This record gives sequence, structure tokens and C-alpha cells, in this order.
Amino acid sequence: MVQVNSNYLKLKAGYLFPEIARRVKAFSAAHPEAAIIRLGIGDVTEPLPEACRTAMKAAVDAMGTPEGFHGYGPEQGYPWLREAIARHDFQARSCAVDPEEIFVSDGSKCDSANILDILGTGNRIAVTDPVYPVYVDSNVMAGRTGEADEGGRYGGLTYLPISAENGFTARIPEETVDLIYLCFPNNPTGAVATREHLAEWVAYARANGSLILFDAAYEAFIQDPSLPHSIYEIEGARDCAIEFRSFSKNAGFTGTRCAFTVVPRGLMGTSDSGEAVELWGLWNRRQSTKFNGVSYIVQRGAEAVYSPEGQAQVRELIRFYMENAAIIRRELAAAGLEVHGGEQAPYVWAKTPAGLDSWGFFDLLLGQAHVVGTPGSGFGAAGDGYFRLSAFNSRANVEEAMKRIQAALAG
Ligand SMILES: *Cc1c(COP(=O)(O)O)cnc(C)c1O
Repeated sequence: MVQVNSNYLKLKAGYLFPEIARRVKAFSAAHPEAAIIRLGIGDVTEPLPEACRTAMKAAVDAMGTPEGFHGYGPEQGYPWLREAIARHDFQARSCAVDPEEIFVSDGSKCDSANILDILGTGNRIAVTDPVYPVYVDSNVMAGRTGEADEGGRYGGLTYLPISAENGFTARIPEETVDLIYLCFPNNPTGAVATREHLAEWVAYARANGSLILFDAAYEAFIQDPSLPHSIYEIEGARDCAIEFRSFSKNAGFTGTRCAFTVVPRGLMGTSDSGEAVELWGLWNRRQSTKFNGVSYIVQRGAEAVYSPEGQAQVRELIRFYMENAAIIRRELAAAGLEVHGGEQAPYVWAKTPAGLDSWGFFDLLLGQAHVVGTPGSGFGAAGDGYFRLSAFNSRANVEEAMKRIQAALAG
């Protein structure tokens, strides 16, 4: 019989979102009249920007003509998109990122998992706790961890706890780790890193020869102009960091699919025989072999994000979601909850009321307010006692959900 990848059997069975779905389904079956509001899963709700739709329609029409037809494109993305990204997202912030260092893809979720393809299996890996589950599960699947313990922590990983006590930024480890996953603005806590915090990580990575995998999927939600959007705003980061970016959350491309990864030239790793190897060449080879590029139509849509109209429309989307976040923060605080995040990120991270763990609070909100959020414990053991609410919803749903939560907590 064929052998399976037994590493998959180490994955914790009760994965977060299926368990939420199971509880919501059971509740709906028992209370078919309840109008449930979902502030749980991190998916956008507002329509695609007009600039993107117009560009994609024109691209569809072009594909219907002999001159405008496009077959396979470059695996790394079309030069015009890579140039627009380099100019607007990096050079405009004084980051020296060249178009050839940008690899366009169909998502940051896949990129952040696929990057393990070019990294050795002996690396010591650090993740924050709580954390975006993809970083952990992709390492489990690739056989880079041991078994999970009762708290759901995998052997072989270094967990860096984040909580209100450390401002949701991890303490720099004393021991040496080779690979560090950082996500700012953060999913799930909504926290953001200052320039000083990122500079500490860059200094650590350079001193220890480590690689930082920096997930900046939520950079567009940063409101404070003094905060860095890219790790490359920190001097020296080109020698120690890869950055993941996505059009999913800023331009609503979660269902359209376009993202990119930045791999700087001159960023080196070590081979088994101790030679220095440039990661750029390995990722270029990996993408050329295992990926055939993002559709021409979608890349034209992504390019339109950088047009003046596209920029204005994206700003408006962000403004809308961040107003939702402000309402959630304000109303939860008025209901007596301790709230974090939601100021530079579309997630509010609330402390559960005394005596309730994350799932206890989930059940209370579902049962009393018919509101679905995400239990913090689903993102890691240190997330227990917290609860995530997402700002991705209509204004009417956010306002109604807050009214109901206040009534449930008062009652
Ligand atoms: C939504 C999200 C992404 C984006 O993923 P895509 O595959 O590009 O849609 C990346 N990282 C985090 C932490 C996210 O929450």
C-alpha cells in the first residue's frame, strides 16, 4: 500500500474553524430563528474596488483578441506589476527593493508555507503564541516538528508568548533560533510593531545568522505614520528578512487571489557543505518549477491598485473597516471588556470576562448575542482568555452585534 505523509497525523484534530462551524451549526439547528452575525473568520466583505474591476474587464476583452491574448506569463509575475509594486510599496518608503526581488503569487498563505521548500530541515524555528496557524501547521506537515503536547504545542518549535504584559510583542529569545515568523500588524492580536522593536529583531537575526519571515498582509491598515509598513524600512533587514505581502486585505482580493513575496538579492543561507547560497536563486527556481504564475487578468487588476483611482478606493475601504474597528473597540470597552488591537489592524483582541475561558466566552456570545467571534485559544495556548473580533463586516452588522453583546454582558 502507498505510504502517506505521517506528519499530517500529528496535526491537532480539533482545528479552530471547523470547531467553530460545528458549534454554530448545532446552535442554528436548535434555534433556527436566530439571526447570527459572524465577526469570526478574517475575510473581507466589501466589493472589489472599481479601478480593479475596470482593469480586469479590459484584460478579459484583450484576451479575446489575437494581439491582446496572453498565454503563460513569467512565473515571477509581469514586469509592469513588479515595477509598480517596487515603486509604490518600497521605493516610495525609501526601501531599496528592486522589481526583480518581487515574486508575484496567488497568495501569502501559500507563499508563507511554500517558503519551507527552500529551507533546510535542521533549522530551529520560532513562532509567537498566539500565532497565524499556517506558520505552525506548514512546519508540522513538512516534518519539522515533533508531536503536539496536551496544550497543542509541537515539540521542536520555540514558542514566544505574547500577551498584554509584553504589549503583544515577543521578547527577543536568549537562545539561537534560525527561522523567525513575525506578523505585523498582527493577526490575531491586532498589535503592531514599532521601528525599535523590528530593529531589535533585525539586530538579533544579523548577530545569529537567522532568517526573519515577515508577514505584512495588514500593512495598509496602519494609521500612525511613524510606524513601519515593511521590514525593509529597518536598516540591515535586506540581509536577514523575506517579506510576504498580499492584495487580499487592502484591495479585497481574498477571492480574486494575488500576493507577492520579496526575496532580496544577497540574502544568504548555508548549504549542507557549509557554502553560502543566495536564497533568491532558490526561490526563483522553486517558483519556476512548481508555479505557473498568476492570471494575466488578475495581475492587471492588482496593477490598478496603484493607479490614483485605485489608491483612493483602497484608502476608502481601509477607512471603512477601521471605523468598524473603532466602533468595536469603543462598544466592547463600554461593555466592560479589556480591549487590545483594532487601532492599526482590523482585529480587536478582547480579554474574556473573569471566569470564562476563550471557548466559554464563545458559547456565551453565540448563545446570548448570536454573534460569532474567534476564541483566542485557537491561535495558541497563550491566546486562551482572549477573543478575536474582526472589523470585516457591514456597518449595520457591526452596530447590531455590539448592541447585542452589550445586552448579553449586562444581563
Ligand atoms: C489574510 C492573511 C494573509 C493573506 O493570505 P492570502 O493567501 O494572500 O489571501 C496572510 N497572512 C495573514 C496572517 C493573514 O491573516
